[in-house]
Amino acid sequence: MSYTIINPATEEVGETIEHLELEQVDEAIARAAVAQKEWAARNPADRAAALRLFADAVDGDAENLARLEVRNSGHPISQARWEAEHVRNVLEYYSATPERLFGKQIPVAGGLDVTFQEPLGVVGIITPWNFPMTIASWGFAPALAAGNAVLLKPAEWTPLTSIRLGQLALQSGLPEGLFQVLPGRGSVIGERFVTHKTVRKVVFTGSTEVGKRIMAGCADQIKRVTLELGGKSANIIFADADLEKAAASAPYGVFENAGQDCCARSRILVQRSVYEKFMGLLEPAVKGVKVGDPNDEATEMGPLVSKAHFDSVTSYVPSDAPVAFRGSAPTGAGYWFAPTVLTPDSRTHPSAVEEIFGPVVTVLPFDDDDDAMALANASDYGLSGSIWTRDVGRALRIARGVESGNLSVNSHSSVRYNTPFGGFKQSGLGRELGPDAALAFTETKNVFIPAD
Ligand code: NAP
Ligand code: MG
Repeated sequence: MSYTIINPATEEVGETIEHLELEQVDEAIARAAVAQKEWAARNPADRAAALRLFADAVDGDAENLARLEVRNSGHPISQARWEAEHVRNVLEYYSATPERLFGKQIPVAGGLDVTFQEPLGVVGIITPWNFPMTIASWGFAPALAAGNAVLLKPAEWTPLTSIRLGQLALQSGLPEGLFQVLPGRGSVIGERFVTHKTVRKVVFTGSTEVGKRIMAGCADQIKRVTLELGGKSANIIFADADLEKAAASAPYGVFENAGQDCCARSRILVQRSVYEKFMGLLEPAVKGVKVGDPNDEATEMGPLVSKAHFDSVTSYVPSDAPVAFRGSAPTGAGYWFAPTVLTPDSRTHPSAVEEIFGPVVTVLPFDDDDDAMALANASDYGLSGSIWTRDVGRALRIARGVESGNLSVNSHSSVRYNTPFGGFKQSGLGRELGPDAALAFTETKNVFIPAD
């Protein structure tokens, strides 16, 4: 089995990536188990230094990594450069972890009680195609820092930057077997992470549907699991907001990465009293999004990742769809989809409820604070969201009321490596990034030593 890379902007055919067979996965798991023991036994300062060298190797290869992502995934070059730099930053941030993975000393009678944060062992990471290298780093950097070995299965469509990161890890001096990238099918390699007893944790980012299967499969061995799943996040705009700023930024809260972003604010909720005014401001903003050649430094939005995904997004905009207005996109080769704004009559219209994962946004009116909150929360998802108001108290009340893991006020903050990220409800389980992420790759062990 193999997969041939297709450039989504040009449909040019690239290299063919061989898929691993089950026996090769099992061999990789065995190698990882050996490497992990040696890694965990090392002096913490040496592990920290090794991770800094890995970060340096990524830094030195950042432009190459960015160009690979442009060719494989169609990301605009400016965004792809940010992604490569982000991977470096994540590695550098967690390189501080080995020397700071503190346990506790707990006062008890008759002796000393201390806790240790022990590594889990071998960790399997399964990534989606939308942000291949950044999402991989959120798993592998803290996992390695906490003393684990990592097996990374990239999405079938977008393996190139992950494969390159595996090479860079080796070149930087990380031990053989400690961080291995295993290209192949989810149903083969991903599934093996779930069923193989030596893999002690699965970190999965992808669809809620597959996430549920992984969680159910992991239950069999009480295997640890972190899930980062889908979203249908709300961008809530109150009448007292800076409407010009809210409208100018709204396209970038949803159309970045062509809407293939789990944090996309794909529902714009607008207070009814300013609905018409807001829509008048939104139209030029949407039409102003620069969609085109991902190699052009000025491009803001590229194509969709594949023909199959293009067909899936297209199915949400049939000829009788409630289209308010659309931006532009190139014609000809490539999976181009113009930014699209829908205004359905009903709050239960599929475009208002389902994750489209493309450059399609649905605008719905609301009446007051309670209605805004109820509408924002009328979703099985709860990943991100934005709140636009000049009233600080309202911003706080709504932020506390919205059932979502990552909110920003008068902005659409993207992911930061130093703050926690993850979802409420069916958007996920557990948190990645931020100061505590490495703890999710450890077990707490309690040890009592009597004084006599
Ligand atoms: P997906 O179909 O769930 O695939 C994600 C990964 O899981 C891929 O590597 C896939 O491999 C693998 N996989 C598929 N079936 C599997 C199985 N039975 N066992 C183990 N692994 C399996 O998701 P996607 O279509 O790539 O990505 C889009 C989704 O990801 C969206 O719903 C989006 O919201 C979500 N997402 C969430 C976050 C977040 O942080 N919350 C971030 C990004 C994306 P193949 O490539 O072989 O199919
Ligand atoms: Mg899929």
